[in-house]
Amino acid sequence: MSDLVRGTAAQMAADLASGATTSVALTQAHLDRIAEVDGAVHAFLHVDSEGALAAAAASDARRAAGTPASELDGVPIAVKDVLATEGLPTTCGSKILEGWIPPYDATVVQKLKAAGLPILGKTNMDEFAMGSSTEHSAYGPTHNPWDLDRIPGGSGGGSAAAVAAFEAPLALGTDTGGSIRQPGAVTGTVGVKPTYGGVSRYGLVAMANSLDQVGPVTRTVLDSALLHELIGGHDAMDSTSIDQPVGALVAAAKQGARGDLSGLKVGVITELGGEGWQDGVEASFQASLDLLVKAGAEVVEVSCPNFVHALATYYLIMPCEASSNLAKFDAMRYGLRVVPDRPGDQAQPSAEDVMRASRDAGFGDEVKRRIILGTYALSSGYYDAYYGTAQRVRTLISRDFEAAFEQVDVLVSPTAPTTAFKLGEKLDDPLSMYLNDLATIPANLAGVPGISLPSGLADEDGLPVGFQILAPALADDRLYRVGAALEAALEREWGGSLLDRAPDLTGGAA
Ligand code: GLN
Repeated sequence: MSDLVRGTAAQMAADLASGATTSVALTQAHLDRIAEVDGAVHAFLHVDSEGALAAAAASDARRAAGTPASELDGVPIAVKDVLATEGLPTTCGSKILEGWIPPYDATVVQKLKAAGLPILGKTNMDEFAMGSSTEHSAYGPTHNPWDLDRIPGGSGGGSAAAVAAFEAPLALGTDTGGSIRQPGAVTGTVGVKPTYGGVSRYGLVAMANSLDQVGPVTRTVLDSALLHELIGGHDAMDSTSIDQPVGALVAAAKQGARGDLSGLKVGVITELGGEGWQDGVEASFQASLDLLVKAGAEVVEVSCPNFVHALATYYLIMPCEASSNLAKFDAMRYGLRVVPDRPGDQAQPSAEDVMRASRDAGFGDEVKRRIILGTYALSSGYYDAYYGTAQRVRTLISRDFEAAFEQVDVLVSPTAPTTAFKLGEKLDDPLSMYLNDLATIPANLAGVPGISLPSGLADEDGLPVGFQILAPALADDRLYRVGAALEAALEREWGGSLLDRAPDLTGGAA
């Protein structure tokens, strides 16, 4: 593998600034890596070589003129295929949007372009972001670079696998119930779900509006902070966008990397561990807690009693919002249109016939399952019993967070109960797939920010384990301070980054 793809985004930015490399060279090296390994990984649904190289050349011209557009100007990035990109296909992993080319950019994509980051392409995902394995993509699964027979997590498995396989130094993901953090955990990458409203959702094809957040997928905590600062901030095009500056996240990461956490109180969430959690996941988590203590933090246990209801609450609220959002895919405005034969008395199929046939052909099983669940839960007579109750439990979960954050500065847990499972293993058992998001969902329900960073490899299978840190709303800086401190301590133990130990994927040494 070329050395050009191995660095962190921060290192690449420094090399661009010093003139040690060019954006064209960096971008070409990543396109070559994609050509070399993506046949096996399938992280990308669409690669835009021409667009990326043109953006890279423009970036080099700015650097040569001494007018870079941002610190990350010229560092390439991959974008999850749920974000609208002008002129580039945006499928959301669904057949129903096959061939759709958006006429506009999502705000976060506009920000990437304005900052000079060449966009390598669009990454694979579970259809409409519904899943924990990327197996629900209509275009075939993504494979985990650590073991190609295993899942890369989901729904943003494409973004996580691209970053883990050195096909991109940075990627954007979206997290409705864990789709940035859980793929991060099982691929040994860093993923951040910002505070709800902290990053614009304009141009993000909504799954569940009250839960969705765009966030960074990277190889280091500092890289996530750099990307988060770039995409965050107020956007008048998103009515839920918070009108506040994004905060000093890069500074927090740099402070954390110095390794001093004295005075910090860390709460271990009682309900997110114990029976049913893989031994190697728990062991890796405990070892990381010890490192936090060594860095000066005080670790206590905190109970969040209503978290046991988080999964059930999520699987009512999310399908309700999704079923209403997906009603717009009616074959009338854009996307797939299937015109059924209409034998018998009618000469032409009706609009409703076309809608039915198009939605039947265009949506996969998981999407249909959730549309049915959501439509049922919202139907008259059931609305209060299901949706209303779920919203009340959601408030209780938010209150658990509030009470916990009165006692501690951050909360922690393993990001996912197990390491990457085998492709196909949970496809016939939706409930066991849903259980993978046990630890990530509470943050979405309450709107608080969370990060997952690699904490090591599980003893029993040698696969990556993720460590999750949660902070109060708008205190995203704490994720970076604590995350960077833990990362620094872990990398001292490992003698480098965890991904240095991942398979090379080209038959060579890692
Ligand atoms: N895996 C969860 C689900 O299937 C979360 C998805 C997401 O965050 N987009 O709903």
